[in-house]
Amino acid sequence: MAKDNPRVKCTVDKCTHWMSGNQCMAEEISVYNNEQAGTTKAVSDTQCKSFHLGDDVGDYVGALHNANIGGTIKAPFMDGTQITPQVECYVANCTFWQQGNHCQASAIEVNGLNVSKASDTDCQTFKVR
Ligand code: SF4
Ligand code: SF4
Repeated sequence: MAKDNPRVKCTVDKCTHWMSGNQCMAEEISVYNNEQAGTTKAVSDTQCKSFHLGDDVGDYVGALHNANIGGTIKAPFMDGTQITPQVECYVANCTFWQQGNHCQASAIEVNGLNVSKASDTDCQTFKVR
């Protein structure tokens, strides 16, 4: 049975997958725990591991391997359609986490204005179980 997938709003404007309107054009994103601790106690311990710092044009071309091209093309033409990546999540103690690394939330927000590494991004929607 197909699982629901949350809509993704993202403010990580330095990521090559970020698009104006706080959208993510990646095909898939992975949300991880704090890597040192291996667990998550707070929002700040979560991270979008698919973050890719965009420094120059080459970085943006490189990001195309994980681009949601179909969604990107459709988005401006279909009213109410927002491109959104598939979400896999390893934060198993989150209320919204479901067996198989699925996220049951209807929408998530990834934050990290002006950050330059994945560990500084957060899933703001994390809620401890
Ligand atoms: S930080 Fe993650 S959610 Fe945000 S644009 Fe980059 S890949 Fe997408
Ligand atoms: S809301 Fe929870 S389950 Fe969903 S992506 Fe964020 S941390 Fe993972």
